[in-house]
Amino acid sequence: MTTHYDVVVIGAGPAGYVCAIRCAQLGKKVAVIEQWLDSKGKSVLGGTCLNVGCIPSKALLDSSHKYQEATQHFAAHGIGLEQPSLDISVMMKRKDQIVGQLTGGVAGLLKHNGVEVIQGRGKLLSNRRVQVVSADDDESIYDAENIVLAAGSVPIDIPVAPVDQVHIVDSTGALAFEAVPGKLGVIGAGVIGLELGSVWGRLGSDVVLLEAMDSFLPTMDTQIARESQKLFKKQGLDIRLGARVTGSEVIDGKVHVTYAVGEDSHTEIFDRLIVSVGRRPQTGELFAEDSGVTMDERGSIFVNEGCATEAPGVWAIGDIVRGPMLAHKGSEEGVMVAEQIAGKHHPLNYELIPSIIYTHPEIAGVGKTEQELEAEGVACKVGTFPFAAIGRALAAGDSDGLVKIIADEDTDQLLGAHCVGPSAADLVQQMLIAMEFGSSVEDIQMMVFGHPTLSEAVHEAALAVDGKAIHMANRKKR
Ligand code: FAD
Ligand code: AMP
Repeated sequence: MTTHYDVVVIGAGPAGYVCAIRCAQLGKKVAVIEQWLDSKGKSVLGGTCLNVGCIPSKALLDSSHKYQEATQHFAAHGIGLEQPSLDISVMMKRKDQIVGQLTGGVAGLLKHNGVEVIQGRGKLLSNRRVQVVSADDDESIYDAENIVLAAGSVPIDIPVAPVDQVHIVDSTGALAFEAVPGKLGVIGAGVIGLELGSVWGRLGSDVVLLEAMDSFLPTMDTQIARESQKLFKKQGLDIRLGARVTGSEVIDGKVHVTYAVGEDSHTEIFDRLIVSVGRRPQTGELFAEDSGVTMDERGSIFVNEGCATEAPGVWAIGDIVRGPMLAHKGSEEGVMVAEQIAGKHHPLNYELIPSIIYTHPEIAGVGKTEQELEAEGVACKVGTFPFAAIGRALAAGDSDGLVKIIADEDTDQLLGAHCVGPSAADLVQQMLIAMEFGSSVEDIQMMVFGHPTLSEAVHEAALAVDGKAIHMANRKKR
């Protein structure tokens, strides 16, 4: 027997569950299929983001930041403490509770909106039919006018460092260490490597990041990346660029890693090794050959601007399609697809997706970088302002970093905003809102910013674009 829905969504991560909720809000009869089971065999929603991604990593980043504040920074505020103790099991339990609260919340939201949750592994067949095999091996078939593929991604593994989740772990294993490793190796100094390296470094690990590329955070604005690299060095993160891992071996519980820098080969011995070299779309066994869905050259499901696949009525969103692998990008694609299913026009502005690294300080950017604009031959003007001249940042003892604003030299339109510093993600989001409205730099210059706030760094950076910053010496005067 085939059960019919208006919309069937495969995958209940931030792309899939958001799409399902919006479809239901728009009056559709919706089912979402999810295969994920927790350690007790219970079905869990929320995907990578809630279970082993954004949320647990931020819980540990916040816990480890508090520990670092207590051990290193309270004294400057005149607060004396006995040597603070560290109980990793409590920290992990707290993280797990937050995850449980949020995954339970998603289940509640789906129920509230009348979305049917079906446990099992979904596969798209021809003619908009979906086969689902449950954990108990029961098979059922559903069909729908619209099917949304939102199967997400998994960590990339590399043969030179096979993950055993004990000595050599991926990001999931690194979110569940039972003790602080003495010496911790991290392969890949990208977003996830920096965040997880920071967590364990703050808790006491001696962290070495091995990065194959010669440049640090090449997709970020170069000035911001350079400043971030300096700050990480000051924090004790040992980031080795141009270091390509060529092999690893576990000997007596230690991980011996060999890596090449140019022609030279090096060896380093670690207590634990995290492999964080990126993620790949989870497309295996997701669709039948005759389903009409195709792949692009990078192994993602091929979609157009509106996330429609080549198969009529079949859509794909989130990490399994092109674009940055970010929860907020997938969620907005979910909304865009739901609106289109309901016959509405709802484009997504791919030019303005913020990228954020939740280290301390945070690193964030939106729009174009200075090097991108240079490559495109766009004449631009740039303003920067350091947090060291922001009263609120000094008061908080958190004044590393800067805000950078880039505008079109001819039209004055905001083209990019980049920041490393306290609350960088929220400051850049302010500029994103302005950019969505097509703001000029002058608009920002003429706005009133509360005092004393970190946002004043945004105001001053906008003023600095035209040499009008008040609280620093401008390079050019207007
Ligand atoms: P997923 O979240 O991967 O969800 C896909 C779901 O589909 C899963 O639940 C999976 O079980 C299910 N599924 C797959 N195949 C099938 C099938 N055949 N049948 C049924 N179900 C299926 N992004 C950010 O924006 N901010 C961050 O701070 C951030 N931090 C991160 C930290 C870490 C450590 C990691 C690993 C990732 C982080 N990300 C972050 C990335 C973010 O988690 C992903 O971009 C996001 O989860 C992708 O959402 P998605 O819905 O496309 O896929
Ligand atoms: P991200 O995609 O942001 O998670 O970053 C992953 C990083 O891992 C990239 O910067 C890659 O250059 C890096 N990387 C991939 N393979 C290796 C390797 N064998 N040795 C060192 N770094 C690697």
